[in-house]
Amino acid sequence: MPDTYQNFRKRLLNGEVTCKGVVESYLKKAKSKADLNAFLELFEESGEAAEQVDVKLRAGTAGKLAGMVIGVKDIIGIKGKRLTCGSRILKNFISPYDATVIERLRREDVVIIGKTNMDEFAMGSSTEYSSFGPVLNPADTSRVPGGSSGGSAAAVAADLCQVALGTDTGGSIRQPASFCGVVGLKPTYGRVSRYGLVAFASSFDVIGPFASSVYDAALVLEVLSGPDDRDSTCAAAPVPSYTSLIDRDVKGLRVGIAQETLTSGIADDVRQSIEKQIDSLRSAGASIAEVSLPHLDYTIPAYYILATAEASSNLERYDGARYGHRAKEVQELEEMYVRSRTEGFGPEVKRRIMLGTFVLSAGYYDAYYRKAQKVRRLIKEDFDNAFKDVDVILTPTAPTTAFRFGEKTSDPLQMYLSDIFTVSANLAGIPGISVPVGKDSESLPIGLQLLGRQFEEETILTAANFIEKTRKN
Ligand code: GLN
Repeated sequence: MPDTYQNFRKRLLNGEVTCKGVVESYLKKAKSKADLNAFLELFEESGEAAEQVDVKLRAGTAGKLAGMVIGVKDIIGIKGKRLTCGSRILKNFISPYDATVIERLRREDVVIIGKTNMDEFAMGSSTEYSSFGPVLNPADTSRVPGGSSGGSAAAVAADLCQVALGTDTGGSIRQPASFCGVVGLKPTYGRVSRYGLVAFASSFDVIGPFASSVYDAALVLEVLSGPDDRDSTCAAAPVPSYTSLIDRDVKGLRVGIAQETLTSGIADDVRQSIEKQIDSLRSAGASIAEVSLPHLDYTIPAYYILATAEASSNLERYDGARYGHRAKEVQELEEMYVRSRTEGFGPEVKRRIMLGTFVLSAGYYDAYYRKAQKVRRLIKEDFDNAFKDVDVILTPTAPTTAFRFGEKTSDPLQMYLSDIFTVSANLAGIPGISVPVGKDSESLPIGLQLLGRQFEEETILTAANFIEKTRKN
């Protein structure tokens, strides 16, 4: 794993390195690794922002993320920069404003070096659905990096930036973090403002960091979190100092294991790795208990009904009229809509729009959409019940390690199943983190997921930090 920002910051503060020098070397490295296709665009001018950070460092006024080199998933707006969402339909769209997360990061003096590649509109689990080509997994370039934030995960894993922002609607931070061997944190729904994030499924979407340590992820979360007047779903709950809490003892921590997640369909190496961590938590004085998530089997169907319904509505705005791709030589309005969308959207996005429109249509609404909303409630109740007895729930992040290109694109259901352990957190709105716990027999990274109560990120961060500090690879 690459060096952490926490260590780098010491070198920066004592003058061993300059921000400008470091940013330039990151830009150079990112260019030399262009074959990974992790970045859609690099900001050549970021050396100038770095110079300004150097001035602040010398004056002693630099912020808490001074000099942190960041990549941003290309679904988050940065004023004046292209915002493609990995889609041909927005290929030349320029963001008119900064997302709140961008403002907050810049206020603490980060340097953003580019936009990272992703599945089109964040729909996918492998980044093979990007309109701009797939991302390669740095651990094994014949394999996918996971998705949909595959560019961000690969960029951090290959040390092309220190931290990257991703988004997680059904697992798109945690699953690629697991496949690439980095830390990925999905905050509670509403913990981080979505202002300036292009909507996929608005009641699920959340922005979070990829990092090479739990500490770095906690530090970035402190900056990202907190209320925002421009996003009414962003919570007013106070933001704890996560970094000062993560070193707490895990003695007495009540860890729940959902048997459902360790039985069927799990790769042996993944299970063994997870069991090793359970033992290590137990030896450190955590109590391990079994919990039940009886509706686990319904999470994928419920998610793919609700998320596609929301997506079909959110994606109505790409009609060729206001912005984005417009078909040429059209004769009439309807033809413009149809052809612009047909030419602009890729196959997975079209599939989701059709599915979402179907489940919302008169006659099917009650049978699918309303039913799925009820299931969502049951899943939330499963977690509420489980969290009466335990503080965190531990599962594998994904049933397998990174798969090969093309392995799942011909069968969408197989692709959807790689989110089996991650989507429930989005249905329930709770926080989750994926932390690397070793490699399988083919040297591919394995991730462990910890889920917590709403707005209790500090608890999963503490457990993840313990695992990171004690794991022996
Ligand atoms: N892989 C899931 C999907 O395709 C989750 C995507 C996400 O979290 N953005 O919908």
